[in-house]
Amino acid sequence: MQKQKIAIVSLTSCEGCQFALLDLGQRFLDLMNQVEMVDFRLLEDEEDAGGKLDIGIVEGNPTTKENIETLKKLRKRSKLLVVLGNCAAMGGVPEIKNYQQQKNTIKHVYKYIQGIENPEIREVDNFVKVDFVFPGCPINGEEFVKYFPELLKACLPEGAGKIPVIPDQPVCVECKKNGNKCLLLEKKPCFGPMIQGGCNAVCPSSRMMCQGCRGLRPTGNVKAMRATLKNFMTDEEFENTTEIFGLRDDIEDRGRK
Ligand code: SF4
Ligand code: SF4
Ligand code: SF4
Repeated sequence: MQKQKIAIVSLTSCEGCQFALLDLGQRFLDLMNQVEMVDFRLLEDEEDAGGKLDIGIVEGNPTTKENIETLKKLRKRSKLLVVLGNCAAMGGVPEIKNYQQQKNTIKHVYKYIQGIENPEIREVDNFVKVDFVFPGCPINGEEFVKYFPELLKACLPEGAGKIPVIPDQPVCVECKKNGNKCLLLEKKPCFGPMIQGGCNAVCPSSRMMCQGCRGLRPTGNVKAMRATLKNFMTDEEFENTTEIFGLRDDIEDRGRK
């Protein structure tokens, strides 16, 4: 049987999510040996000849016109389009400028701003249909090992497009399993209850609040979370923290529903 074809493509990003894949070492190479890798610039520099793909994997934000074009082409070629990480899924660090006087932020970087494009940052799903998201900043490599084979299966006729679903459970579940004392009980802020788990509660396990890089879970109760956090942080602190990983617009959207 012919190997299934995949490509891993980078838009505007720090490439940390792709490095999380490489950090898997031999396990990543074993997975890649089962497929034909058409494009992944961290591993090979052969020209991508184009053509149909089973899975197109995209990391980073479609910030430039070239990024948007690359993204649309990838979507057209791919049976499944899979998003890798917070920048692509939620706007990530680049989206901070949307909330912070977008026009002026550019002056901190460039002395002369004439001719410099400074678009509003919008996530991948504003431009193309997304079939699956590996959440996080960076992604959790273990989740890739778990769900990538299922995604490959979903592309086969017998898999009939059965795309896996990450369980809707808060960061708190893994946090408790790790035996952590809850930050909220210590009157410290944490977004854990409203955020999609699956990162092994890496932040609260180091006594740092969850800032929500994996995004809101489908049934996360934002209103209740906001009410609880009012005891531990000001509105301004709450808003600033939700801007770090592009959570703020999702919280606002949830509030409108
Ligand atoms: S989600 Fe985080 S680690 Fe991944 S590319 Fe964006 S900034 Fe880098
Ligand atoms: S520290 Fe945060 S993630 Fe852990 S149980 Fe408390 S609220 Fe949940
Ligand atoms: S604990 Fe929260 S901020 Fe930290 S990795 Fe998990 S989802 Fe992201």
